[in-house]
Amino acid sequence: MIKENLNRVRDEIAEKCLKIGRNPAEITLIAVSKTYGYESVLEAQSCGQKDFGENWAQELVEKYDFVPKDVSWHFIGHLQTNKAKYVVPRAEFIHSVDTLRLAEEIVKIAQKQNKSQKILLEIKTSEEATKHGLICEKDIEEIAGFCKENQNIELVGLMTMAPFTGDEEKVRKSFSQLRLLKDELNGKGFELKELSMGMTGDFKLALEEGATMLRIGTAIFGTRNYST
Ligand SMILES: *Cc1c(COP(=O)(O)O)cnc(C)c1O
Repeated sequence: MIKENLNRVRDEIAEKCLKIGRNPAEITLIAVSKTYGYESVLEAQSCGQKDFGENWAQELVEKYDFVPKDVSWHFIGHLQTNKAKYVVPRAEFIHSVDTLRLAEEIVKIAQKQNKSQKILLEIKTSEEATKHGLICEKDIEEIAGFCKENQNIELVGLMTMAPFTGDEEKVRKSFSQLRLLKDELNGKGFELKELSMGMTGDFKLALEEGATMLRIGTAIFGTRNYST
């Protein structure tokens, strides 16, 4: 099942890219394996999948040792500062940095690990109260500036979650807002490359608006069961 799903998602991405004149090789497909066991990760890996996304530090820790090290882990969930010590040694990318305090903590741990942690800033582009992320430009530039001065952290892009709505225009607006913010920051001398946006329900819109990293769970692994 995972194999067919992955192939379908890859085909849909390639088809969409062709339509809008983008190169599918520039798109990173992150298979969001949260709530699914390491067996599912291994199955996807055997189909050539390299990038995986997790939401919870504990779950990443549990799966990490069962999966070969040539897999790249992306931490995409809200990260509490006191959990960063579990995530930094394991994640290649942390998509959800939303405070200076968290960035500072990541640097502390990355120094001990002798690594440069790649991060994205999570931006709140919708009104939904349940969504995390930065809103204030001053805060965004402050963290971006901090990253620029520290060799143990590398700011590579921005991440957002669109509102859960059938209203396509609202979703598109949230994605285009992220793209504009990236352009604006790059105009101020930052060098952001990645736009992490688009999930199962909205990744085609996200591709149209410039996404470079898609975070897709349900379309690959199936509907999640949170009760187990
Ligand atoms: C769960 C999750 C996803 C994947 O969502 P699907 O709708 O299952 O594709 C993407 N991004 C974040 C931040 C998530 O928490």
